[in-house]
Amino acid sequence: ELEPLPLMTLDFLQILSEVCEQCYRDFAPDDVEVKVREHILQDFETFLRCQVPGAKLVLFGSSKNGFGFKQSDLDICMTLEGQDTAEGLDSMAVIESLAKALRKHHSLRNILPITTAKVPIVKFYHTKTGLEGDISLYNTLALHNTQLLASYAAIDARVKILCYVMKVFAKVCDIGDASRGSLSSYAYTLMVLYFLQQRSPPVIPVLQEMYVGEKKPVVLVDGWDVHFFSDLKNLHKYWPGYKKNKESVGQLWFGLLQFYTETFDFKETVVCIRRIEPLTTFKKQWTSKHLAIEDPFDLSHNLGAGLSRRMASFIMKAFINARRVFGAPVRDFPPEYPNKMEYF
Ligand code: ATP
Ligand code: MG
Repeated sequence: ELEPLPLMTLDFLQILSEVCEQCYRDFAPDDVEVKVREHILQDFETFLRCQVPGAKLVLFGSSKNGFGFKQSDLDICMTLEGQDTAEGLDSMAVIESLAKALRKHHSLRNILPITTAKVPIVKFYHTKTGLEGDISLYNTLALHNTQLLASYAAIDARVKILCYVMKVFAKVCDIGDASRGSLSSYAYTLMVLYFLQQRSPPVIPVLQEMYVGEKKPVVLVDGWDVHFFSDLKNLHKYWPGYKKNKESVGQLWFGLLQFYTETFDFKETVVCIRRIEPLTTFKKQWTSKHLAIEDPFDLSHNLGAGLSRRMASFIMKAFINARRVFGAPVRDFPPEYPNKMEYF
């Protein structure tokens, strides 16, 4: 049972917006930090090419999707020149030789090949910057979802700010680490985007449903359709909703917390950013899952599949608490959360 909400005053929403904007300013990397990442990548590629001929490296994940933190890891994808797909590639052997090569690099420590995961990777620690990272092979869909997220981030400044706030919220509440049984930051970003699409009027369109011309183009990668509308300069021509939503970030953040605690039915509905029409857990046959989040390209992939019942309820409680905390003036902070919420 949720308690009734206090009336949100304009003043309070104004403060909430400022807190959200401050959160973005505090955690987003500056230009120098962005350049440093590119520089590390270039250095790795030059170094690797002497030992793994034809190696090509690309940055993806939050270093590129617009939602990176100063301390976010370096997600790097390696491909080999002249080889378009991983087909016929002995991934394990390549990962092992990659690890061996990286061990000779003077500013890398803790080189750890992980060949048992769905996507085999080599983890590393970069001593000069203190950044952690991993290199995966032919992680092509991840490159495409990085571009998709970057496009949404570029549409409206509020998208970026809210995704940062959501990531900070997930970190602060300790619900943002997939390797420890919760959800990845990628999953939380999808939740924000879904909310912004379903808002009335919407803040962002569904780029995967938009196209110019008669027929929706299909671009297949690893068997999945990765088409999305990317001509953002001309978005205003093709999206009738362009700039229709004028809410502040504070309003939207509180709206998001209300949405996921009061409106959205996790039992019935899938968080799905590839179409505007609601998608049911029944249709996906994901009814046994506590929280269903569909990957925008790999439609068989439910990002909530790994959640235990306990963890799902822990996450929901974090949202309910947040809705209470952010819905009341600061002096009414619940006494049992003095430290974790201090930042806000
Ligand atoms: P962070 O700032 O926390 O590192 P991130 O977006 O880089 O955020 P990572 O967990 O490092 O998150 O993942 C890197 C990228 O790999 C994601 O941006 C996404 O493109 C892809 N990815 C991560 N987890 C998944 C997943 N479960 N399914 C599909 N793609 C994923
Ligand atoms: Mg990352």
